[in-house]
Amino acid sequence: MLNSVQLSNYIITHKERFLQELIDFLRIPSVSTDPQYREDVREAAEWLASHMKHIGIENVSIHPTRGHPIVIGEKIVDPALPTVLVYGHYDVQPPDPYDLWESPPFQPVIREEKIYARGAADDKGQLFIHLKAFEWMNSVRYFPCNIKFIFEGEEEIGSPHLPPFLTHHAERLSCDAVLISDTSLLSMEHPSVTIGLRGLSYFEVEFQGPTHDLHSGVYGGAVPNPANALARFIAGLHADNGRITIERLYDAVLPPEPEEFEVIEFMRRFDDRLKQETGVRELTGEKGYSAYEQTALRPSLDVNGMWSGYQGEGSKTIIPASAHAKFSIRLVPDQRTDEVNQLVKKHLEKHTPPGIKATLKILHGGDPYLLSVHSPEYRAAAAAIEDVFGKKPLPLRTGGSIPIVTHLRKTLDAQAVLLGFGLDSDAIHSPNEHFGIKNFLTGIETIPHFYRHYARFCCT
Ligand SMILES: [Zn+2]
Repeated sequence: MLNSVQLSNYIITHKERFLQELIDFLRIPSVSTDPQYREDVREAAEWLASHMKHIGIENVSIHPTRGHPIVIGEKIVDPALPTVLVYGHYDVQPPDPYDLWESPPFQPVIREEKIYARGAADDKGQLFIHLKAFEWMNSVRYFPCNIKFIFEGEEEIGSPHLPPFLTHHAERLSCDAVLISDTSLLSMEHPSVTIGLRGLSYFEVEFQGPTHDLHSGVYGGAVPNPANALARFIAGLHADNGRITIERLYDAVLPPEPEEFEVIEFMRRFDDRLKQETGVRELTGEKGYSAYEQTALRPSLDVNGMWSGYQGEGSKTIIPASAHAKFSIRLVPDQRTDEVNQLVKKHLEKHTPPGIKATLKILHGGDPYLLSVHSPEYRAAAAAIEDVFGKKPLPLRTGGSIPIVTHLRKTLDAQAVLLGFGLDSDAIHSPNEHFGIKNFLTGIETIPHFYRHYARFCCT
């Protein structure tokens, strides 16, 4: 039995120590992208491993990679119980620009019930939630699940060494579910669980016209201009109603689950905030859809760069020989990058104007992610939130991508649930990153409830 009074008393009693330990962890400048911090990243891995051992996690080991180390550990109580793998990252973004920080990024301070430091919310503070939840569970020997941990030091640079590590250690890391705290709640009043991430297909297209730049007076009118042609091609990628015109692109797009209608309604209130945030006067896009639907539940296509012809001072009257653009499509379930790449290729072949040679390069991509609200993973997260926050969470999708989530799912054949306790206002990746102490403590309280519910829902 989970004794929730005992759990909250433990958190209250040990609050100051928890914060002091987190401050020690945050003090280590584990900036993964900058080689001058290499030793600090290693020190953070060692600090983490020794703390994990100290609180009773077993088989803790540090695995060097060609980049930064991966730290793993586990507590296997009974092979018959479900196993949850906790993923987190102990590396942080660079702190620059330094002079915009009100207090130094690696000298953590507490102001107005928030802890200020680089990594406070992303992700050291959220990772630490799991260690403190474990500490309590171990102190009362309450383990409804087996728990494994994997913490990497390269998330902020795209996790280059994690996929091969997962493949190589798939058996050691085998699990029923992956639990990740590296996202935000809508707010403390409106808790949420992230169920969806968009995928990506990224392209570069070249339109080739004449063999070399031409005099636009001598040839203009008769010779195809690749810049004119590319502009028309790109303009044609959207219809007047905002829909993308690529044939069959929407075939695989799933409608929202009925449980999502409440969150769609709720999110309409943020349309105006989006205008303020971005400084645009009007929102555009697909007719009939709110900003939330368009940025999280619908595919979107954006030009990311375009170049052609003369770009220096003054004028130069040419027909350029070539024109280029980079564009990308954000994908939603159940679209697949491979299929979308083929559709774009076909669309380009069909719509290449006469006299133009088009070349398409596929740059990179990743499939979208969706956790069903009927899955044991979501149900356990929702029940845990309800226990602690006193209300059901909203099942939220976000427009961005976290590629490691799809890797974890594919390699370990387990669903991942994104149960984050940050807030969008935490200034992650920016100066004055912070994490609310209430968010930190509430997170610690929520996690043991997740294990309790997961053991009930899983495998039944
Ligand atoms: Zn993160």
